[in-house]
Amino acid sequence: MQVEIDPHSGFCGGVIRAISEAERVLDAEGGRLYSLGAIVHNEEELARLQRRGLVTLGKEDLQQMSGPVTGETLLIRAHGEPPQVYERVKELGFKLIDCTCPVVLGLQKKIREAYERLRAGGGQIVIFGKIGHPEVLGLVGQVDGGVTVVETPEQLRERLEDGTLRTDRDIELFSQTTMSPEGYRQVREVLSGAMAAGASLSVHDTICRQVASRHRELSEFARAHDVVVFVSGKESSNGKVLCELCSRANIRTWHIGSADALRREWFRPEDRVGVCGATSTPKWLLEEVAQAIKMI
Ligand code: SF4
Repeated sequence: MQVEIDPHSGFCGGVIRAISEAERVLDAEGGRLYSLGAIVHNEEELARLQRRGLVTLGKEDLQQMSGPVTGETLLIRAHGEPPQVYERVKELGFKLIDCTCPVVLGLQKKIREAYERLRAGGGQIVIFGKIGHPEVLGLVGQVDGGVTVVETPEQLRERLEDGTLRTDRDIELFSQTTMSPEGYRQVREVLSGAMAAGASLSVHDTICRQVASRHRELSEFARAHDVVVFVSGKESSNGKVLCELCSRANIRTWHIGSADALRREWFRPEDRVGVCGATSTPKWLLEEVAQAIKMI
């Protein structure tokens, strides 16, 4: 069997930056660093960092702490957080390392600016994103209401039908950075077809460039192989989107979290196997999976 790792798979810039910062602090501060939420949606990489001293806290932990927390460092991951979280971290006395991806910071700023533009006329912001995803919570938290989040064109139609979203007023449309470009195109089409005369729709191109180009490259990669093994964590929304893309391009696509989940019956000796992953999948894990397939 020939096995090839997709050269474009592996961490995106935002995740590389957060993980190298975490490793730098763990080396310098002798073994403990708190991360607010999982630093990366990949169980294998998380376990590796936990062994080095990374401790993951939930937002509920921050609320329950009585503080002050002196001498402890807390990292905000690439997804970003709403302003209330920064206030709480400061109140508790953590030393803060902010690893919000610069692309996400730019999107948060655009949402605040859109809110100011729309506020007087009662306009609305629509975000195409995963409801409850940390990046989306951070985006919604930038402004004081007037935001509708939809995950699919169908959900958008429902919001239009039930009147949650009024199309007789201006709307500005944004996407979470890791959504599918095709899904965003469909949402944009539904919304522009629904706008009432006199109201305007502004569409912001906010899908991360790294994600958008990976969509194009990954379809080609999946088509060029007989079997595709897609590696990502269960919680990775980018992983779900990219794996679906591979499945559409190649029916023999298998989604796994680690090499243990590989099955001999997926492969034939003459197969060309492609191994790829999400923006949260570490290169070392792709190499481990490729090696395990070669041993089958
Ligand atoms: S996908 Fe893009 S925007 Fe999101 S963290 Fe990675 S580099 Fe930043």
